Amino acid sequence: MSANKNSSRSPKVGETVERFELEKAWLVDPVSGREGPGEIVVIDGVLESIVWLEGEDAAGVTDAGVVVAPGFFDLHAHFREPGFEDAETVATGCAAAAHGGYTAVALMPNTSPALDEPGVLHRVRSAASAGGSPVEVLAYGAVSVGRAGEQLSAMGELADAGVLGYSDDGAPVRTSKLLRSALVYAGMLGLPVVDHAEDSEMTAGAEANEGYVASVLGLAGWPTAAEVNAVSRDLAVFADALGDEPRARLHLTHVSTAAALDLVRRARAAGLPVTCDVTPHHLAFTDEWLAGARRWSWDALGADGKPRDPWADGALTAAPFNTSLRVNPPLRTVSDAAACLAALLDGTADAVATDHAPHTVVDKEVEFGRASNGISGIETALGVLLALVDAGKLPLAKAIAALTSGPARVVGSWPGVAATSAARSRGLIEGAPADIVVFDRADSWRVTDETLRSKGKNSPLLGRELSGRVLLTIAGGRLAYEDLETDQT
Ligand SMILES: [Zn+2]
Repeated sequence: MSANKNSSRSPKVGETVERFELEKAWLVDPVSGREGPGEIVVIDGVLESIVWLEGEDAAGVTDAGVVVAPGFFDLHAHFREPGFEDAETVATGCAAAAHGGYTAVALMPNTSPALDEPGVLHRVRSAASAGGSPVEVLAYGAVSVGRAGEQLSAMGELADAGVLGYSDDGAPVRTSKLLRSALVYAGMLGLPVVDHAEDSEMTAGAEANEGYVASVLGLAGWPTAAEVNAVSRDLAVFADALGDEPRARLHLTHVSTAAALDLVRRARAAGLPVTCDVTPHHLAFTDEWLAGARRWSWDALGADGKPRDPWADGALTAAPFNTSLRVNPPLRTVSDAAACLAALLDGTADAVATDHAPHTVVDKEVEFGRASNGISGIETALGVLLALVDAGKLPLAKAIAALTSGPARVVGSWPGVAATSAARSRGLIEGAPADIVVFDRADSWRVTDETLRSKGKNSPLLGRELSGRVLLTIAGGRLAYEDLETDQT
């Protein structure tokens, strides 16, 4: 690569990128479906030119080096402000997002107070503009007042204020009756309900995915059926609500089990406009990590296609009960992880969303079952997906699409926001404000307390090298993240 900024000084975060040229990189445009060698020029924040190279000019440029893609869009993140600023703030969350290649994020409303009225949205937006990052901060409003599952939030006012949709994430929408009202009312406003599908009665006291690993470790089982029941309920209620309000929309977030993904697959085949996402951690990590395994999910499948026993395999290389692995839904089996990948490949899963859930050390340095749920994951999502690409399990273009055009299409299917910038197509578009990430697949970085920009250091990947170091993130024509200094020729 040769990166030539041709300017007297580098811009600071938040400033317009006056001039940036990148010669001989691998461009991926998930909207046109095109990828290949190319060059880009950014002038005054605009993606002024995209040149696809051919023949001699393209010689030596492969997808194993520097890659240019549209900026990533995270449908599910927790930036903790207001209320839990010691775990994350909108400013640190945006810095983490940009380091991960993201130029837009959709924040969950489980703040304190919950984002159940426009005042809280205004606070989040003020924090975003005060932080100075150009990362686009979108937010969901709560479905219910205080996320308590009793009565609907000020949904109309929240829609007027510009929420992206509604969720009680952290918890499911508590009752079928409330979900039905929420779907219909949100549908009238052109907005979706984004549900965290969990049968909470079945998971009370649960610690780890029910099965072999939980039994051996003596952890209370978290049944697959808790997710399957909830997805099944959600789909039935959604089908019913659509009869009343054709603009009703349901998005299921962090679906983690083979059985639940199968329900979504069948519902879609039957014509139900449901969408869903899967997370990087459910794709790549499995419950055997709780016992101390650190191999990727796809490395835990035997030649016969069956999961291997980590104890018999000698695969346990780390200490057990690492609380950074406690997450809701829990890390599942090797087969479930394979099902998440299959869903991504066949389109049942529309997007990869991080469920970035930073926590303080205090909330995680307790016994496994008492630790807060969540993984700090917005900075490692790209590296995890590239591990799948490196292993030959996922085409690069598909990985990029899951982070860009996939989430954009989900949001574009919500009538109330289809015409907003949140739903823009997320391709490489000449003449549009530059919204791109540049990363180097030939370069890696080590995940450490210091390299993570997030306040949340609760990552099971601490100490690990991930490929695909992000060199530059430009959001809406403005600099979001830059680390072009090393390894330049
Ligand atoms: Zn959730």
